[in-house]
Formats: sequence, structure tokens, C-alpha cells
Amino acid sequence: MTVPLYWRDQSLMNWTATVLASSPEVIILDESAFFPGGGGQPADLGQLEWAGVFTRIDGVSVAGLVPAEGDPLPPVGTVVHARLDDVRRRQLMRTHSGLHVVCGVVYRDFGALVTGSNMEPLLGRMDFNLPEVPLGFKDDLERVVNEEIARDRSILDRVVTREEAMADPDVMRTAQHLIPPEVQEIRVIDVDGLDKQADGGTHVTSTRQIGEVRIVKVENKGKGFRRVRISLPV
Ligand SMILES: [Zn+2]
Repeated sequence: MTVPLYWRDQSLMNWTATVLASSPEVIILDESAFFPGGGGQPADLGQLEWAGVFTRIDGVSVAGLVPAEGDPLPPVGTVVHARLDDVRRRQLMRTHSGLHVVCGVVYRDFGALVTGSNMEPLLGRMDFNLPEVPLGFKDDLERVVNEEIARDRSILDRVVTREEAMADPDVMRTAQHLIPPEVQEIRVIDVDGLDKQADGGTHVTSTRQIGEVRIVKVENKGKGFRRVRISLPV
């Protein structure tokens, strides 16, 4: 029912929308750039403004936007000015793209596949299947990741058919979860020449926009299971 604007334009933070449904549990807009959460990226926060009144958005559920408890609710049919918490969203985009660069470098230089990831603004973790941690891994990884960021590689997003995605060895290699059979259109995030993943999240459009990535910690979580923790300076 809601058109997801975050796939059409990842940089969109302000827009006008019409309220289709409104209750203390959920508000549904005809068009929304609120990222609902997924693939390790948390949902957006933000607000709706209508007739000089503000409704804070505390989260996003499968159904729609979750208004802050006690805030006034826009009636159905109201045209609202929607706004994301753009500082938080921008930080999440940088963090998410930074994790993809880490993923690409760990595979290319250390041959390890990613098994999971999660993030908060400016903090992320990525799990790898890496039986042996080479000497100097943490420092080498940080250096090479920042070299790749400095190359300012393009980060392209596009939507392909399921067949096209399945036929791409890079996309299949980085698939952290099985893509459900009912999903026929798959979005691919391509850090040009470094990493390609099926991914629904929001990203910056070139690696330099990520800024610096610090490798904070490499944890041993069991046989072959390494957790790499990153942080990004503001
Ligand atoms: Zn991702």
C-alpha cells in the first residue's frame, strides 16, 4: 500500500505524503522514505508535521509508522510533511556502506565469507567464517579498508530480477540469508569492484562519503567464527 521512497532515492529525508490510516498503534502514509529495518540496519526515526502540529515517529513496524505515545495523530486524509532524523539516517548509511567495504576486503584479501551483520549509527559488527586469524589482521584490515574508502569507489544500487540475481556469483556468495521464493525483484548494492550484495538497506553513493572506519575489535566467537567490530568517527 505504501510506496517505498527509500529505494527510489536513498538521500530523500523530507517529503509530503497523505495519511491513509491513523491510530495510536500505526500511521500509514501513501509514500514513505522511512526505512523499516532489515538486513542489520535499524528502522528510521523522524516526525510528521501537519497544521503546525508534530507527531514523532518512534519506529517502523510491518504495518507502518509507530507514533510516539501520547503525540497527536493526524486524521486520515491529512497531507503531512514527513521528515527523517537525517543525522541518524546519514550515520546509518555511512555505517552500512562501511560494513560492505569491510566485507569486500575480508573476502578478497583473506578469503572469508560473511555470515551476519548488525549496526547502530556509527557502530557495526560483521561475522565471518575465518578459521585462522592471520598475524596483524586487525591493523591490516583497517589500513586496507581505509585505502579502499579513499579510492572513492561508486556505490550503485539497482533492482534486478530474481533470475539475474541468482545467476550472479558475487551476489550469491555474499547472500547472508536465503532469499524467499516469493521475492521476485531483488535490490543489489554494488561497491564498484569490491563487493556486491543483495541488500534492502540505505547507502551512501561513493566510498569516500563513509569517512574513516576503525576496526575496534576482532572477537573469536568459536570455531572459525570471528566477529569484527567497527566504529566511525562523527
Ligand atoms: Zn548490507
